[in-house]
Amino acid sequence: MKRKRLAFTILVISIIFSTILLFDNLYPSLGLNKIKITSRWVFWSFTIILLVYLIKSDSKPQLVPSVLTSEKIANKERDKSEVSFKDVAGLEEIKEELQETIDFINNSSKYKKMGARIPKGILFYGPPGTGKTLLAKAVAGETNSVFLYASGSEFVEKYVGVGAKRVRSLFERAKKEAPSIVFIDEIDAIGTKRNLESNNEKDQTLNQLLVEMDGFNSHETVIVIGATNRLDLLDEALLRPGRFDRHIYVGNPNMKAREQILKVHTKNKPLDKSVDILDIARKTHGLSGADLANIANEAAIIAVRRNKSKITIEEFDAAIERVLAGLEVKNPTVLLKEKKTVSFHEAGHALVAKLLNTEMVQKVSIIPRGQALGYVLKFPEEDRYLLTERELINKIITLLAGRAAEELVFREITTGAKDDLDKATKIAREMVCSYGMGSLGPIAIDEQYIKHNYGVLRDEIKRILDYCYKEALEILDENKPLLYHIANTLMEKETMDGEELDEIFKIYEKPIDCAT
Ligand code: ADP
Ligand code: MG
Ligand code: ZN
Repeated sequence: MKRKRLAFTILVISIIFSTILLFDNLYPSLGLNKIKITSRWVFWSFTIILLVYLIKSDSKPQLVPSVLTSEKIANKERDKSEVSFKDVAGLEEIKEELQETIDFINNSSKYKKMGARIPKGILFYGPPGTGKTLLAKAVAGETNSVFLYASGSEFVEKYVGVGAKRVRSLFERAKKEAPSIVFIDEIDAIGTKRNLESNNEKDQTLNQLLVEMDGFNSHETVIVIGATNRLDLLDEALLRPGRFDRHIYVGNPNMKAREQILKVHTKNKPLDKSVDILDIARKTHGLSGADLANIANEAAIIAVRRNKSKITIEEFDAAIERVLAGLEVKNPTVLLKEKKTVSFHEAGHALVAKLLNTEMVQKVSIIPRGQALGYVLKFPEEDRYLLTERELINKIITLLAGRAAEELVFREITTGAKDDLDKATKIAREMVCSYGMGSLGPIAIDEQYIKHNYGVLRDEIKRILDYCYKEALEILDENKPLLYHIANTLMEKETMDGEELDEIFKIYEKPIDCAT
């Protein structure tokens, strides 16, 4: 581009000079008669050749060149992401996991020499506002690669083939400018499951995306990152190895992460001494990173409106209220009570699961995830195909322990146990109807029997569930201090792994062993 501009400048000068020489030739009065006619001809030919060259190399070389070039340069600079991992608060595990990908991009030759295939696709999924887009930008920033942003909806077009064409040109550009990161936000807009009577245009777009993802090979360092709120809607073909084969859940932040996010977003804001970030983090259970960023911004706006020189806790409280009202979520005190209930509910599950040895507890959390307000992540110690009657009973007791803890502590029950009840009832029904474990004895029960003896079966199922619920209440009652300890720790930390749970168990010198 620079060379062209230089040639253009020379051309302009040459044309002016040529014109002067021409005039001098026609009316020799300018005193240039020292220049020989041959030199003049050489100069004129040079000008013409230069003119032809510039016209040929670009059809409109001198009309808009400066505007065009500067815009292109600006564009390129904009494509370089300025976000780094420093700007992403919390999400430590995810950042660690992405470190490998970053290394892949930065030292791709090292991996290629070893014959390792560079992962092509990463899919971030999780609720909105949790930092998926931010993470993708940070990966681009950390690797200093070109960041090509596209939203799934940009590819949705009325005319068949247009979306597919856009996908093609996006990837062409990515390959040309590699190392690059193609980020497709809201990929569900084009990536939903295909079905028989589905829309032709969308299928073509999705097919093109699949083709492109298969198409580029290990010579090009192009990483595709997708983001979606709905992993369940995506077409399986997209999730296959070689395409989006790494799925990373980006969830709502826990208290510590909320504190860090708030710190990031108040870094450049003058804060009054009254502002305790940790306290704000405590009050904002269940909110996303985007909500917290919004709160910090609202607080600043309110402070300006109130003519304050610093943002005080009052502005923050007002901001929290406004953001929560906007979200149509209950006020912070209700939120806090809910958090307490969920803490005891999950503590109940975790405690009983450990005492009955039903499954290893991997993680307990009261951070809302999907529909659930909290969850206990368990994994069986080994793959099991045969379960004893007692083991099934223990499973049901564990499932009902959440509700039992609520009743024991608060003397009231909430809607939080819906999923537990469904699962417990299913197990009890299978025990009676499929495994011959009820008092009906070893008999397989078919549809006909169920139809005619519904009452008998229901009583039998209920008997099992009632027994298990009573057991759960008893176990929790016998280990009340332990229950409170776990629940309070959960309230404070919001997540706990298996080891932390073990630590607490150790404090209570050998709790009553209920395993049978
Ligand atoms: P998503 O793509 O998951 O819907 P975004 O990445 O667009 O969410 O996040 C929206 C905004 O919320 C970001 O621009 C940022 O200001 C803020 N945010 C979200 N998560 C974080 C985080 N972990 N650290 C810092 N800011 C965050
Ligand atoms: Mg986003
Ligand atoms: Zn539960």
